[in-house]
Amino acid sequence: MNEKEVHIIIDNYEAFRAENLDERHLTLEDVKPYLSSLSRDFNLSKIGQSFEGRDINKIVFGNGPVRILLWTQMHGNESTGTRGLFDLFSFFEKFDGLRTLKDQILDRCTIHSIPILNPDGALAYTRVNAQGIDLNRDVIDKKAPESRILQDILQQIKPDYCFNLHDQRTIFSVAPDNNTATMSFLAPSVDVQRSITKGRKKTMSVISSINKTLQQIMPGRIGRYTDEFYPTATGDNFQKMGFNTILIEAGHSKGDYLRKESRLGTFLALLEGLRFISVESGSDQHQDYFNIPNNEKKYLDIIVRNIGLQGNQTDIGILFIEKLKEGKLVFEPSVNQLKNLADFNADKILEGKDLEFNDEKDVEIWAKNTFN
Ligand SMILES: [Zn+2]
Repeated sequence: MNEKEVHIIIDNYEAFRAENLDERHLTLEDVKPYLSSLSRDFNLSKIGQSFEGRDINKIVFGNGPVRILLWTQMHGNESTGTRGLFDLFSFFEKFDGLRTLKDQILDRCTIHSIPILNPDGALAYTRVNAQGIDLNRDVIDKKAPESRILQDILQQIKPDYCFNLHDQRTIFSVAPDNNTATMSFLAPSVDVQRSITKGRKKTMSVISSINKTLQQIMPGRIGRYTDEFYPTATGDNFQKMGFNTILIEAGHSKGDYLRKESRLGTFLALLEGLRFISVESGSDQHQDYFNIPNNEKKYLDIIVRNIGLQGNQTDIGILFIEKLKEGKLVFEPSVNQLKNLADFNADKILEGKDLEFNDEKDVEIWAKNTFN
């Protein structure tokens, strides 16, 4: 999207975005009111049940020949993709502007979307499903009913493109300035040689155009994941089967623990991805993909610099661990790094030269008491 289109969207986003989906702990119950209030342009159906018997739904919209499959929350505690997807629905339903852009997408694509593929994990706020299975590593074994449902739909639809939506941890940063990786992307590999196949070029081209759009609003905060081949990962296998798969990871921005910005980023990434596929899919932009900087792991919630530990000077790096406590999501501080962190960045950077600790356990106790 060009600057003008992005501005129109940003200026109107607060007015049209899906309401009451602001919490990170997002369950099937939370989205039910939206599912039942969608207009007739959105075709809702049940496609199966989770291990614990919760519904898995599919929403189809658009009338075009290009088939798109997207799913969110295959990791139950990664809700930003779901929130971005509902913003996309609201954009088509509630916002009157950018009619041409919308028509281009709806005439060209049919979009099959599965919000909350892992509703049991969403309720429990876990990455895994109720059997303890990571659905993103179950593509070959298919031990989880959720994995089988996704692959049945995949074989039914035989999509031209898939979007696999996730959240990434705060630790991910973007080289060279170690900004937060507010959004990251991956065009998964199909083999250990990381071959640049025809299909991968198409996936990379979509990501390149999404990157161009998002750089307008979050410059320097978009990263690219390592394309090391994971033999049991969903994206790698779907890509290998010939279904071009775009991995989207929503991340942190400074002070934004509700991930409002990466929710907007996810919505814009989906919209731009669909626009590119609809009107520019013939254009090969895969080379631009390699200009997106790598994701690194050099961002923390808090750094306390220059503390004393057994007589030596070092730094403390703290990450918040997300936990459900009496049904409410809390962020608990935990020591993640205890070393010189000169090349790390953080939300909060404090000076600790008056602090002296006897051992690592003392540091952990102090961090919990101080930042809780
Ligand atoms: Zn994930």
